[in-house]
Amino acid sequence: MKYIFVTGGVISSLGKGLTAASLGTLLEARKLRVVLQKFDPYLNVDPGTMSPFQHGEVYVLNDGAETDLDLGHYERFTNCVLTRHNNLTSGQVYETVILKERRGDYLGKTVQVIPHVTDIIKNRIRELSDASKYDVVITEIGGTTGDIEGLPFLEAIRQFILEVGPQNVLNMHVTLIPYIKAAHELKTKPTQQSVAKLREIGLQPQVLICRTEKPLDRDVRRKLSMFCSVVEKAVIEERDVEHTIYEVPLTLHAEGLDQLVCDLLHLETPKPDLKAWRKFVERVVSPRKRVRIAVVGKYMDVRDAYKSIYESLTHAAASEDCGIDPKLIDAESLEHGVDGQLRDVAGVLVPGGFGGRGVEGKIKAARYAREHKIPYLGLCLGMQVATIEFARNVCGIKDANSTEFDKNTPDPVISLLEEQHGVQNKGASMRLGTWPTKIVPGTLAEKIYGDTEVTERHRHRYEFNMKYRDRMNAKGFVISGTSPDGALAELVELRDHPYFVSCQYHPEFQSKPNKPHPLFKSFIAAALAHQSRGEQLTPAIEEFPRGLPAEELALQG
Ligand code: GLN
Repeated sequence: MKYIFVTGGVISSLGKGLTAASLGTLLEARKLRVVLQKFDPYLNVDPGTMSPFQHGEVYVLNDGAETDLDLGHYERFTNCVLTRHNNLTSGQVYETVILKERRGDYLGKTVQVIPHVTDIIKNRIRELSDASKYDVVITEIGGTTGDIEGLPFLEAIRQFILEVGPQNVLNMHVTLIPYIKAAHELKTKPTQQSVAKLREIGLQPQVLICRTEKPLDRDVRRKLSMFCSVVEKAVIEERDVEHTIYEVPLTLHAEGLDQLVCDLLHLETPKPDLKAWRKFVERVVSPRKRVRIAVVGKYMDVRDAYKSIYESLTHAAASEDCGIDPKLIDAESLEHGVDGQLRDVAGVLVPGGFGGRGVEGKIKAARYAREHKIPYLGLCLGMQVATIEFARNVCGIKDANSTEFDKNTPDPVISLLEEQHGVQNKGASMRLGTWPTKIVPGTLAEKIYGDTEVTERHRHRYEFNMKYRDRMNAKGFVISGTSPDGALAELVELRDHPYFVSCQYHPEFQSKPNKPHPLFKSFIAAALAHQSRGEQLTPAIEEFPRGLPAEELALQG
């Protein structure tokens, strides 16, 4: 079993997760079995309770774990299917240690960071060390070297290397090489200092991944090599990608990273097969056509808040040889009227969300899409607002609402799940993870999935209120998927609309570059069909009103 530890230096947001995931892609292309895990030094037990403003999206796994969005990169870039064992936070570590202490497991000993905290961390790496399943475990340490919270994790790695032998371990440090315009120079000093910090803790990186805007010349490489004690060919340039994050594995391969890693770890593998990946990247970079999709949400300026959704749109679009021009619309700006904001789009997507802010704007967006026959995809809250809209404006239930937004609504078309009554804690208390959905034969949903049973990932507390089913069905609101016992609505569609589909779950967590999710794929196909009919499409007057959303799809995670 081989181990790769990925640490970060100088600043956060360098794209460590993406780098780790890209290495995973390359090693899998060499027929190695890879698993990735993330250690997050913060004290939250999981990111489930963190605001998207702070931490981007919460990525949900099959087993219902609410995890860091880097696990999304891992699942999209490799074949790994992850579980709650693949994301460890300091909050979890201390929770475990304190519970053990209260139980008396430490038998009168003083409980300390070394060995008790570090033991828990090392065990987490060992848990994944199942040689029958994996050849390589890649562990990413969140945060930046030098953070106080990160110390126990780095200390645990130091001990771990001693236990499994240095020949089986590789430390990879992702660092920033800033370009100083005034001096026309790339600066290596921050990296030297961050590697010195690692050495203080007893860790020596063997590979430096250098995030940079400009190419590293020979002198810079030599300097980094000398000051950081890393052989020159292990100074790897990772320049900002031009078009899409999916280029990262290819640029790292061109820099020789995968060969280097295999040499350092004494792994014999065939040459990597990157054909399918390259093809996907080509389709993302130079598509034959483009389609404009509105995403109507709450965190439009936080590029990571809907990460999996933007990625899923990219995957689906690529499969149709098409590029996405996302139009990111703040739902609050629609509250007093749509005002032409949706006139130039070929599809409307309303993502998940919590709380009442912006809800009336989302309802207006759903109404506009329904009335103008624009393809609509509603995800979780996006399904709930579409339901409220239909109840109010088609069925005449004028005060229809969700009890999330109006506790005393006379017509709760969306209401709290039975199991949620009495739930007090906010953390890990929703309906979470994979649940099966039975699809009603003869519906659009059946055509989309080509199946009558699917499993999808959930994260919600509220549900469609079945009391309104018949009344709404009579007007064309079709429940096309339910839980196997028929009690919970999972998928809905409109009878008299070319494509109006919404689901109570989150399909965005199961889309991959060469395996787009059927709901996203069919949504893009419907948007293209809508566009080619020229319906409601007037040329965009203003390209991307909010900053440069094209970059949303081309950003470093
Ligand atoms: N707030 C809604 C609920 O809890 C929707 C959740 C979501 O979109 N993930 O049911």
